[in-house]
Amino acid sequence: MRIKTKLYMGFGIVLTVILLIGTTVLYTYNQQRDHLSNVVNENYERVKLADNLEAYSQAISREVRQLLLMDLNHFDQSVTIYEDQKELINYYQHSSTVQLDLLKQLSTNKDTSDLIATIEFENDQYNDLILSIFDYVESGNTNRGVQELLNNTEVRTSLIDSINELKVLEEHEMERALQSSEEMFHSALLFFSSLIGISILFIVGLTLQITKSIDRSINKVRSVMVNIPSKLMDQLPKIRNIKDDEIGDIAKTYNVMVEHLESIKKKEDKLNETLKEDNWIKSNYAQVTDNIQGLQDLKKFSETLLTSIAPLVSASFGILYIKDDGKQLIKQGSYADEYRDIGVEKINFGDGLVGQSALTNRKMYFRKLPENYIKSSSGLGEGVPTSLIIIPVKFEKGVIGVLELAKFEPFTRIEIDFLEHLCDSVGANINQILNHLKISDLLVESQTTTEELQTQSEELQQQQEELRMINEKLHDQYKQSDEKTKELEVIKKDLERRNREIQLSSKYKSEFLANMSHELRTPLNSILILSQLLHENNDQNLTKKQVEHAETIYTSGKDLLDLINDILDLSKIESGKIDIYPEELEISNVKAFVERQFSHVAQQKGVNFNIKIEHDTPSIIYTDDQRLKQILKNLLSNAFKFTKEGNVDLHIKRGSNDVNSKVIFSIRDTGIGISTEKQKSIFEAFYQGDGTTTRKYGGTGLGLSISKELSTLLGGYIEVESKEGKGSSFLLHLPDLSSQIDEAVIDMDEIAVTSEEPLNDRFDSQSNITVIHHNKTEKDIENTKELLENKVVLIVDDDMRNVFALTTALEMNKIKVLFAENGKEAIDMLNKNPAISIVLMDIMMPIMDGYEAMKKIREREEWSDLPIIALTAKAMKNDREKCLQAGASDYISKPVDMTQLLSLIKVWVYK
Ligand code: ADP
Repeated sequence: MRIKTKLYMGFGIVLTVILLIGTTVLYTYNQQRDHLSNVVNENYERVKLADNLEAYSQAISREVRQLLLMDLNHFDQSVTIYEDQKELINYYQHSSTVQLDLLKQLSTNKDTSDLIATIEFENDQYNDLILSIFDYVESGNTNRGVQELLNNTEVRTSLIDSINELKVLEEHEMERALQSSEEMFHSALLFFSSLIGISILFIVGLTLQITKSIDRSINKVRSVMVNIPSKLMDQLPKIRNIKDDEIGDIAKTYNVMVEHLESIKKKEDKLNETLKEDNWIKSNYAQVTDNIQGLQDLKKFSETLLTSIAPLVSASFGILYIKDDGKQLIKQGSYADEYRDIGVEKINFGDGLVGQSALTNRKMYFRKLPENYIKSSSGLGEGVPTSLIIIPVKFEKGVIGVLELAKFEPFTRIEIDFLEHLCDSVGANINQILNHLKISDLLVESQTTTEELQTQSEELQQQQEELRMINEKLHDQYKQSDEKTKELEVIKKDLERRNREIQLSSKYKSEFLANMSHELRTPLNSILILSQLLHENNDQNLTKKQVEHAETIYTSGKDLLDLINDILDLSKIESGKIDIYPEELEISNVKAFVERQFSHVAQQKGVNFNIKIEHDTPSIIYTDDQRLKQILKNLLSNAFKFTKEGNVDLHIKRGSNDVNSKVIFSIRDTGIGISTEKQKSIFEAFYQGDGTTTRKYGGTGLGLSISKELSTLLGGYIEVESKEGKGSSFLLHLPDLSSQIDEAVIDMDEIAVTSEEPLNDRFDSQSNITVIHHNKTEKDIENTKELLENKVVLIVDDDMRNVFALTTALEMNKIKVLFAENGKEAIDMLNKNPAISIVLMDIMMPIMDGYEAMKKIREREEWSDLPIIALTAKAMKNDREKCLQAGASDYISKPVDMTQLLSLIKVWVYK
């Protein structure tokens, strides 16, 4: 049983006993109380009633005496008093009877009942006496009544005595009751004392029992533990017959602990054993190494080693082989307890057990040797060793030798460990000895060489002297070259600075050229327009000579414009400011353009002009339309310029196979040709074949260099083939730029090279008007004039010369001209003159420029369809887009070709 249960049970029993005692005490106490209340209620009541009875009897006797003493002679008055007195006496009599009745009801024992009966009898007697007294008094015989009372006094006294007797009896009774309750109390006390005594005895017994049982369990565990010897032993006592209680748990835990201790002890023993073995190995190892320390001779070393080891491991034979320079093991020492020569002198790696052990770097151990393996003898007899061990001697992971030992008993594990440990470390000693031997060999060798060297050294000294001189010379040279390098550095820096300056000046140059071009074109505009007007001689008032002069002015102006354009082109190409805008271009379009440009030139010169497109030519090419046409125009102009008679052919064909040549444009002429040496120079800027002042052919010498540069920009190249006097052919190779479209850089703000062609092209496609001034018929001009008569044109320009020239030209065509100096004035004019049918808008103006003015105009609904033609002098590259975006209906660049302008006006006014 568990201790906990035992304790619970013990306490339970004690509690039950206490409860039992408590209940008994309560019961006894209740009984006692009942008994006492009985005494109080009944005996005391009877004593009280007896007291009352006595009091009433005394009162009756007193009142009767009173009645007898009354004067009843005057009866009339005294009747009432007498009656009252009689009534009072009757009342007392009645009360006595009531008390008696109550007494009777209460009485229980016989003595009391008898006494009460006597009292009743005597009371009745007394009452009868009183009644007779009343009778005497009423009959007026009061004296007789007094006599009667005095004669019968004993009736009253006996009544009183009896009552007193009852009282005494009752008091006795009470006393007795008290006594009996005292006795009850005593017996109860006795009962409790004995009960408590028994309970205490029982509880003490129980407690002793439980304590004893717990003590027994503890003692059992304690005795086992006390018996554990002070030194831990292999077998520790264990507790058997374990009870299933808390002490039992401790006992179980103790048993587990004992098992742990036992295993620890075993481990400790094992460790001790190992330590002992280690100690053995170490001390012997120290002894052996001590013996071999400092030995420099290989044989001596080997012998010492073997004689040191063999007795330690009780071996009877031993051999030490050491590796030579090659792959051979040489016997360096042997040990045999009878001092004979044993063992093979040389063993190859891999041969036999020793060779195998050396090759594989593994030890070998044999416990049973064949009987005739080797014999060992002593003075007393001879025997065959039974165990053999072969261990490789290691040095730096390699094998430097092999140790072989044999003995009669098997080698113990410690012995093998010891030998292995030794073989791992003596390698270093062997190696050291070998090195030592080598060094001494080398020393001898070196001594002879030193002598040789001494003689050589003398020779060298001489050579060194020579070298020193050479070195000095070289040093001087190095110094010089260093100075040169420094100079070069300075020059390089200077060049870099100049390069920067050049770049800067090139930038200035480009800007200068751009500005010059603007400044030159604006006056050129007036010159061209007005000279054209003069040349037309519409009023027929100029002489033929004057008309010719006007024409010269016009063509000179035109040449000047071309020159300005060329110079601008070249400078922009040189400064890398020309960008390429590839687009899809139909070859047929190129053909149409060339025809339009040059058929009349061919006609004028009387030269055949043939254009041919080969059938396998790609119909579409991705390239910059404007640049291609510019190149073709240049090449064809040259061809016509340098050809007096014969043919100029344009041959368009499929390109050669390289990437830069998808289409070839070949321009061949039968003109003057170019000599071989000149062919190299014609592409240089400003070069002209005939550079003299008396030259026949006009030109600037820029055309070919521009063409060459442009072709490079387009990704292609130009080739020339020519024979002087026979003609020339120029081949323009162009690639397809479709793959490069996305990469094209578009710099909108750069100044574009102005060229009229794109505009003309646009014209052609829009209105089919061929704008070639020289081909215009008189009829056409008349026709235009009629159509434009009285139309109102608003010129918006801040340059008065331009306004004047344009006004003159337009008025000659009977057009009404209004003008405004800037955008703001233009809007005012438009407000005032609803008749204005077209606006010619300059772009660069003060106050409000053309773009803004056009935007403002377009904001007004009534002017949303008003034709506006934008004019600009400084031809910006993206002018066309910018103008159209701002609201221009069309675009024309300065200097204005009047014929073109008139056609445009006609187109827009009648749209
Ligand atoms: P230019 O304005 O003088 O024509 P170019 O750069 O176009 O300048 O040509 C340079 C020179 O190359 C010319 O002056 C001329 O001597 C020579 N040249 C160019 N094209 C031809 C051609 N088709 N036939 C003969 N010579 C030519």
